[in-house]
Order: sequence, then C-alpha cells, then structure tokens
Amino acid sequence: MLKTLRTLLLAVLVPLTAAHAASLSSAKKVSTSHDAWGHRPGARGFSTVILDAGHGGKDPGATSPFTGQREKDLTLDMVERVRRELKDSVRVVLSRGSDNFVELDERVRIADRTNDAVLVSIHFNAGPSHLTGPEVYYWRVDSYTFGRRIFAALSHATLEKHANRGLVRRRLRLTRNPNIACVLVECGYLSHGSEARLISRADYRTRLAKVIARAILDQRAEGDGRLGPLPKPLNEPPSKATDRRE
Ligand SMILES: [Zn+2]
Repeated sequence: MLKTLRTLLLAVLVPLTAAHAASLSSAKKVSTSHDAWGHRPGARGFSTVILDAGHGGKDPGATSPFTGQREKDLTLDMVERVRRELKDSVRVVLSRGSDNFVELDERVRIADRTNDAVLVSIHFNAGPSHLTGPEVYYWRVDSYTFGRRIFAALSHATLEKHANRGLVRRRLRLTRNPNIACVLVECGYLSHGSEARLISRADYRTRLAKVIARAILDQRAEGDGRLGPLPKPLNEPPSKATDRRE
C-alpha cells in the first residue's frame, strides 16, 4: 500500500535549492551511460533477482476487509512463488524469508550488495473500493521497460477491466535509492471484494507469480528491446529516511 503521493508532489515541485543545484551539477560529471540517477539503458543479462516481500513483522501492511488476509503474509507467499518459477534460470535473493520486519533502508542495502541484479518489491494494495488491478511503480530510466513488462504481464493475467493508476513513475525509497534497476509491484487490491477473493486463492497467486517471473526473464533476455523510447531522466537526490513510507 502506498501513501506517498504527497512525497511525489513535493519531489516534483521542490524549488531548485542550492543543495539541489549542487546535486545537479555533480550529476553532470558522471557518465550518462551508467550513473546514480538511472541514466542508463534498462537492465539486461543480470545474474541475480532480489525479491522483496513488502512489510513484515510488526508492520502488517493492508488487511482485506473481505478475506481478512494481511498484506505481509501475501507478499511473503508471492515472493516464494516467484522464486520457485525463477530458481532454475537465475539466482534469487529474498530480502526476507520469514515474518520479520526489515527497514526500507535495509532493503536498499540488500539490493545494493549485488551490482549485477534487479530488485522487485512485491505488495498488495488498498484504497477506495472501486479500484482494482495491478499497479507498478518505477522512477529511474533504467527501470522503465522492466516495470512496463511486469505491468503488461499482470494486466493480461488478471481481471479484464481495471480501474487504477496503471504504470506509475513515482519516487519511493525502493524505486529511487537502490543502485540497480528497481520496481515496486502492487499485485492487486485487497480492498476490492472480488479481487480480494481471487487473491485469496493459491492458484490465482501462482498465475500472478508465473507472469511476473516470465516478465523478469524477458527483461533479462531482451533489456529494453523495442519498448522505447525511454522516459526523460529526472535528477532528484535520493529519498530521505524521513520521507513517508509506502
Ligand atoms: Zn504495501
């Protein structure tokens, strides 16, 4: 579940402060083929996939009013399912493998332990009752086609009609701070009755896991492929620990 729209708006509307100007000028010194702002092509040929189960431990995330399921349990279930689909093809690392609390900044550190990796953070959503379907969040240029592939795959595999935000460029700690390509995937709305009941079914979650894994492997094989043009780079400093958390 995301509560960071205000963070995004602040990020977009923030005036060009001295610190911001300094960070922009320092960015110019970095090669645009591979730099901290994500000014580089999409990930391709990576050796490792880091699967991040959202929430955990003292942080349950959203709870479905229809099924009583908690987001932290469903995200852990989903990363295990995606891992099973991927493990014969690529190395997989889990940011948590049990019901424990992991700080967002620690998740970033886990992501950055491997250069040759991508990060997929898995969540389930909650919001106004009419919203349904998957949403994918990305910020960096190098994560655009990755997010687009996962969003398209989930859209085809889920309800025929969705009412939601779709593929969204949003600055979150897990879409901005890692040095590797990184996306945050909301697999569906626990606050929507029929979608929550689908999510409660193991076969449905397996279907979602299969298409997420397929999209990850497609990205690994093809990189940006023909999914251009890439979005414009946005130069923003890393998200702060004081930012609102998702
Ligand atoms: Zn969440």
